[in-house]
Parts: sequence; structure tokens; C-alpha cells
Amino acid sequence: MRFEISKVLDAIEGRVCTDPALARAVVDLAEVIRWQDLDGGRPASLLRLGMVIDALARQMEEDSVPVYAIVHRALLSDADLTSNERMVVRRWADDGLVEVLDQPGDRVLEVADLLGLPVLTRVRFDGLTGRLPWLGQAGRLLAPVPGAGGPVFIAHVGGGQAPSTGPRSAAGQQLLTRQWRCPEPGCALFGAGGGGGAFADLARVDRSSVGQPPPTLRGGAPACPRHGARLSDAGPRPRTEVLAVRIGGLVRRRFVVTEDQPVVAGRAPEQAGGVVLGQWLNDEARRWISRGHVRFELRVGEVVVTDTSTNGSGIRPGGSLAEADRVALAPGQSRVLGEGDFVELYPGVQIGRAEELPSAAPFTPASVMAEAPTMAMRLPRV
Ligand SMILES: [Zn+2]
Repeated sequence: MRFEISKVLDAIEGRVCTDPALARAVVDLAEVIRWQDLDGGRPASLLRLGMVIDALARQMEEDSVPVYAIVHRALLSDADLTSNERMVVRRWADDGLVEVLDQPGDRVLEVADLLGLPVLTRVRFDGLTGRLPWLGQAGRLLAPVPGAGGPVFIAHVGGGQAPSTGPRSAAGQQLLTRQWRCPEPGCALFGAGGGGGAFADLARVDRSSVGQPPPTLRGGAPACPRHGARLSDAGPRPRTEVLAVRIGGLVRRRFVVTEDQPVVAGRAPEQAGGVVLGQWLNDEARRWISRGHVRFELRVGEVVVTDTSTNGSGIRPGGSLAEADRVALAPGQSRVLGEGDFVELYPGVQIGRAEELPSAAPFTPASVMAEAPTMAMRLPRV
């Protein structure tokens, strides 16, 4: 059982990040862990974060949807958590996967405002809609409550149960054009090396490839939410493009390509930061798809895909699934991904721009899925 729990905590670890390009909702971890009615268990449990993330994945019909977690510092020594859970949260804090704050205050709302993300909370924030009008929009403020087969979301205001995103606020857009540096040595969020907010996957990702979280605003100036110190401008933030992997009609994960960081995807890429697809593939697809099958680069705003495989790939121009439209991408060939284009590594195994590659596409073909988990977490039901 102990082993199972630690596997679940590892799975949850892969779903927390502070990367503005990847996070899909904001939570206050101190609040989530105490939703005892979700499982009727202990006063505090880190597994409830997994249950909420799972519910978000079901609702968004995607396999891995990371959340941006704000963590009150007191949680690191909360006696209601197990020592193992405290250790895990400390590791997340050290790695910059979560934001640890002495006084979280309105930071949850600030992050949601800057990034245009929904907030999963049972707090109603009445009286704040004047200052933050988006709080009144459908799907921006959702309360996870017990439901059949796991938590479900109910809206506080505005109706609807589907989480929805909005545009980043003007301040958010401005802050995210720059990189920031915290004067505090070893700051996990705004330290040297461009790091901050890693997207931990099965293999740990190189920190330089992930985006910094949004600074907090103190008197209009960008500051480190953790240390309160004013941040210095460390130059323009590299351009990014968010790509999605769709296998068997379901988006399995998203990843970010930046101008200085190409990304290789395949069965099991050897490169740091590679996107591993093997766990979702059946035997036939695993035989066809090379360890490192395609490489994505961002060049002056264009996504360039290069086939690095043995067997080749195909481009689906404009997303067309008609066989006649398919353009072969031979081993070694490169091509710019035009609007709506995606690359197909094997029938039903597709990678393209995240906003152009939604889930719930026709399930093509039925055989492509391994007996892999359809939803990531598989939490033990208590
Ligand atoms: Zn700092």
C-alpha cells in the first residue's frame, strides 16, 4: 500500500507546475487537502489534489492537465499530513513546481487574473467581482464537490460546470514578455538559469526549457511572490509554442517548444526534455515509432518539424484526415507546420499546436492504444 501511495504521489507530481504555458487551473493546496468529504478520510490528504486534478482531466477530456498550486508555508510542517506527504510537498517547493508563500493572500486570484486561468476553490470571493470582473464569468470559479466516481465541479456564479480560460490580463501579458531574476540566492521560482516551475514528467525536465511563473505585483512593480524582493529584468522571454500529443483521439499531454530549446518526441527519446510516448502505444505502434521520431523547433515564430525516425512520418495539412491529403515526411526531411497542420507519427498518433488539436476527435484507429491508463492517476478509492 505504501508503495502504491508513493506511485500516486509521483503521478500527482507530474501534474503540478508553475509554467504559464502549461498550467490549466489554479488551486490553493492548503484548501484542497482539507476537503475531507471527497473521500471521508484523514483531516488532510495530499491525494485529494490528485482527485481534483483527475476531475479536471475528465472535464477537459485530456490525459494530463497540470495545475498551478499555491502552497501556504505552514503546510510544509502540517501535522495532519503524513511525513511522506510533507516530504513530497517540500520537494515540490524546492523544485519550483509549486509556489510556497508565507502569506498567500490573494495570490491565487492574482495568478488566475494574470494567466486567465480558472480557480478550483470552495471560497466564493463575494464582493471581489467589481475588482476582478472575470470572477463572474462562467467556468472561472468552480467548486470541486463529491460526485459519483470522483469529484465534480459546480459553479459558484455564472452557471456551467466546464472550466474555462480567459485572456491574460494586460499586466499578465506584459510581465510574461520578460524574464525575471530574484536577488535571493537559489530562488526556485526566479533563480539563475531561466528556471522556475519545472514540468516534471516521467523523466525530469531540464529547467531551462520551462517558463517562469508570473511575478507578483507590489505597488505596480514585479516582485518575487516567495521572497517579496523586487525582481530585476533579465531580458526578453523566449518565444514559446505549446504543442499537444493526441493518441487515439485523446490529448495525452502538452509540451512547450521555445526558440532556444528544440524538443524530440518518440517512443523513448534519449534527449533531455524529450516527450516519451511509449506508455500510450500498442505493440505495433511501438515497433513503428522510433525512440526519437520527430524533432520540433521554433524558428522566427514558425514550428519546424524534422523527421528523425527510421520509418518516416506524415503531415496532415490543415488537420485533414483524408488519406489523399497526407503528405509523407521522409526520414531526415523537415517542414514548417502551417495553420492547422499536424504531424502523424503513426496512424492515430498525432502532434500539433495545442489550440488546433482538441481531444474527442474520431478515435482513429481503435487499436492504437496500449492498455495504458486512459486517465492518469487511478487513485485508490477509499
Ligand atoms: Zn525569490
